[in-house]
Amino acid sequence: MKKKILVAGGGGFIGGHLVSRLLADGHDVRSVDVKPRSEWHQVFDDAENIVADLKLRDACTRACRDVTVVYNLAADMGGMGFIENNKALCMLSVLINTHLLQAALEAGVERYFYASSACVYNADKQKSEDVIPLKEEDAYPAMPEDGYGWEKLFSERMCRHFREDFGLNTRVARFHNVYGPYGTWDGGREKAPAAIIRKVIHAVETGQPSIEIWGDGKQTRSFMYIDDCIKGILDITASDILEPINLGSAELVTINGLVDIVEDVAGVKLQRRYNLSAPKGVNGRNSDNTLIRQYLDWEPGIRLRDGMAKTYDWIHAQYVKRLAQPA
Ligand code: NAD
Repeated sequence: MKKKILVAGGGGFIGGHLVSRLLADGHDVRSVDVKPRSEWHQVFDDAENIVADLKLRDACTRACRDVTVVYNLAADMGGMGFIENNKALCMLSVLINTHLLQAALEAGVERYFYASSACVYNADKQKSEDVIPLKEEDAYPAMPEDGYGWEKLFSERMCRHFREDFGLNTRVARFHNVYGPYGTWDGGREKAPAAIIRKVIHAVETGQPSIEIWGDGKQTRSFMYIDDCIKGILDITASDILEPINLGSAELVTINGLVDIVEDVAGVKLQRRYNLSAPKGVNGRNSDNTLIRQYLDWEPGIRLRDGMAKTYDWIHAQYVKRLAQPA
């Protein structure tokens, strides 16, 4: 059935892909983002595209007018380099979720989706590279990533209490590292997959023999391709899953392993300079997908090597396009 849907943060990486999918499914989409439209990762002429600051209550009221579903993907965020150095900015995103929840309740929306993060998980469970995948219950007792993770955990609970106390139908997914085309690939907010791809491309194009790696390269992570993420968001929103649930890949890789993959895609072998004082996040993190498999039969469909190859092609095209621009 055709619906009027709000995508908050529609100018961002995941938001842009979600708008694309919702339009393809025949919905009316309102896409709202604080950035000037020229900076949106994707702009679709058949969506209603609005530039507004959703930290403000009035903007949220306008954004929720006449919509039946809200996807809240708006947040001030980035990779470890950004979130470790901008904790206050990350925490201010609480204003977005607070005001959107209030406005969605007032507008009588049917469903409200909130994008949480694996950064909510207790740091004690992520000290070793040799990880035990994180189950949903591992978020408590609470000791999340400072700043960004605390905001996500608090906002998750707001969603829960708006559902329990006011009957707003909220759904929450904890994303584990999402990557793919049409995302941030430079400028300081990029995450590890895009940063590594950019560094390798730069080394190849300029003939440099080495690249810098943040940390010792032994940190372990999993990475989910954007198409799998979008399918998961839609399935979780339509489901009866009331508690926050993991949405991520369980294909564990070290950062060195991720560099190996990118080198293989590029057809090069580079020296690695390890910067041990750069932000590197927790030592190990993986997603336990027992619950999402059980409830939704959801499994990531795209292997890391394949997703990284697609992302490499897109970032390479951006890199070349930028070089061709007049200085
Ligand atoms: P992104 O930075 O590309 O997108 C977020 C968008 O929100 C940006 O375009 C930004 O301009 C917008 N925004 C920020 N403040 C706003 C405001 N006040 N009003 C309106 N818009 C505002 O990030 P993304 O990767 O697309 O992430 C989307 C969501 O998923 C975020 O909530 C993020 O925390 C969460 N998440 C992402 C990942 C990941 O790996 N990408 C992992 C865990 C959680």
